[in-house]
Amino acid sequence: MGKDNRKILLDVKDLSVSFDTYAGEVQAVRGNSFYVRKGEALGIVGESGSGKSVTVKSLIKLLPMPPARIKTGTAMFNGKDLVKMSDKQLESIRGSEISMIFQDPMTSLNPTMKVGSQIMEGLIKHQKMSKKEAREKAIEMLRLVGIPTPEKRIDQYPHEFSGGMRQRGMIAIALACNPKLLVADEPTTALDVTIQAQILDLMKDLQEKMETSIILITHDLGVIADVAERVIVMYGGLIMEEGSIDDVFYRPQHPYTWGLLKSVPRLDNKAKERLIPIEGTPPDLFSPPEGCPFAARCEYAMPICKEQMPERTSVSETHSVFCWLQHDMAPNVVNPVIEGRGK
Ligand code: SF4
Repeated sequence: MGKDNRKILLDVKDLSVSFDTYAGEVQAVRGNSFYVRKGEALGIVGESGSGKSVTVKSLIKLLPMPPARIKTGTAMFNGKDLVKMSDKQLESIRGSEISMIFQDPMTSLNPTMKVGSQIMEGLIKHQKMSKKEAREKAIEMLRLVGIPTPEKRIDQYPHEFSGGMRQRGMIAIALACNPKLLVADEPTTALDVTIQAQILDLMKDLQEKMETSIILITHDLGVIADVAERVIVMYGGLIMEEGSIDDVFYRPQHPYTWGLLKSVPRLDNKAKERLIPIEGTPPDLFSPPEGCPFAARCEYAMPICKEQMPERTSVSETHSVFCWLQHDMAPNVVNPVIEGRGK
């Protein structure tokens, strides 16, 4: 893969996010750094509680603050630090420069407002369009996301749309203002497999056409493979591995990624093989372990794993991993994913 010269749109450094609760501080995200390039689709994958949603939602204040709190970090978006922005500044960025789509469109779509009006709202507010211009653009957007007879559908309410169409409608709203970044949080989890594939194709297609950057947050590696170019694997509030789709699917280096890959159907879909869930439970984020958060579940754990979090190791220009197995002194371990594929 050649060097990627696209500019960095979002550059997050040392981000830590906690929730202050009566029972104590939940350290949901602990000092993560990552970036998204202009026009790039980045996937963030992990189990529930891994911190993947909190990471992104905290940056655009989509979490109630308090109890959520950004403890450390910067997030440069287009030259400005999102962390330092006032609520008002962020509000004007949300929906214009950064848009979001979620798992359940019914919780984000306003049931009392026509779908068309919801698309037009952002266009009138952020793009200063006239009502007539906004209506034309809304019809164009509905057509673009594959909604038939958009001239009629524009005047319908969300309950008159099917589940897949509502998700398309939400994508139309999210992309109408031509945002620089689209955050998609489990966008297809509630949909059946066929519709899921159509929505993912649509997102990919629009991302390429409109050169929008995407952060796709999901627990499903299959979804990531369909849309993303680069993947971050999170566990226990920390990044475990980061790389291109090929790095993470075909040359994964972290035992947690190995576990994830064994617990989802194979990319080539050939196998009716038994899926193996990762045994054990995620770490307690009230008092996260000093060392690697995966140590309690990792069959390769060594004494140092429980004492100290491993540093980032670069495996290649595109691929890095946080695991003591990368250390020169670590024992040689057979990579079960590569081995299993007979490579
Ligand atoms: Fe397993 Fe140790 Fe690597 Fe963590 S650092 S994944 S415990 S081998």
